[in-house]
Amino acid sequence: MHTSLASKRQGNFLVLEDQEVKHLKVKRLKVGDKLLVIWDGALFLCKLEKIDRVKALCRIIRELETKEPPVKVTIYQAIPVELKTMDTIVQKCTEIGVDRIVPLITQRSFQDVRTIEKKLPRWEKIVRESMKQSKRPKALTIERAINLRDIPPPREVGIVLDNFLADTPIRDIKANHEVEVVVGPEGGFAKDEVSLLKERGYIPVILEGYTYRTETATIVAAGFLINSAGF
Ligand code: SAH
Repeated sequence: MHTSLASKRQGNFLVLEDQEVKHLKVKRLKVGDKLLVIWDGALFLCKLEKIDRVKALCRIIRELETKEPPVKVTIYQAIPVELKTMDTIVQKCTEIGVDRIVPLITQRSFQDVRTIEKKLPRWEKIVRESMKQSKRPKALTIERAINLRDIPPPREVGIVLDNFLADTPIRDIKANHEVEVVVGPEGGFAKDEVSLLKERGYIPVILEGYTYRTETATIVAAGFLINSAGF
């Protein structure tokens, strides 16, 4: 079923505007058709009541039950030098159920903070499209980029994905509520970066298998942590 994002609620109606109305037209939805609408972190089954050039009104039939991952995953993602890779990471992390992504500047990451800031609206658009595709009602948040040396200590459990020296497999990681995952760029971390993260309380963890691309490592780790928590 088609899924839209509402921009406001008026009584028993959810209002769609701009791009969302265009999408309805592309999908040839007509008055009387049913659709799913995401609003305020919830998912609603609706009926299209009215549509014009700029606005559509959807009557709420009922709110649908949705679930959130039992563990909140934060990805501290070293910004890939191939900046487009970040699009894939944002898209997949939204589908998997990651709570937040914090872009990280490391010795071998993409460095230009102004370019990164300019990418934020694009990444937020990818989050919205991915929410619609996966019917995830609660948004993934993307925070402003920080430098690796400013990374805060983990709130509950933190890990650094390390394909060189780590001997703790990811299945040994147990978190009740929250886990922060630090992932290196294409060229990996420098040794002193892993030392700094260890001092700050992050456990070096190996994903048993091959050496993954940064985006694959992120997806594998996030998928594992969320699925093994019983999502
Ligand atoms: N250039 C490095 C590979 C970097 S892979 C090399 O030659 O070895 C990019 C990042 O993905 C790494 O910094 C690490 O954080 C993560 N990663 C990839 N494969 C991994 C694995 N098997 N276990 C843990 N982390 C991994």
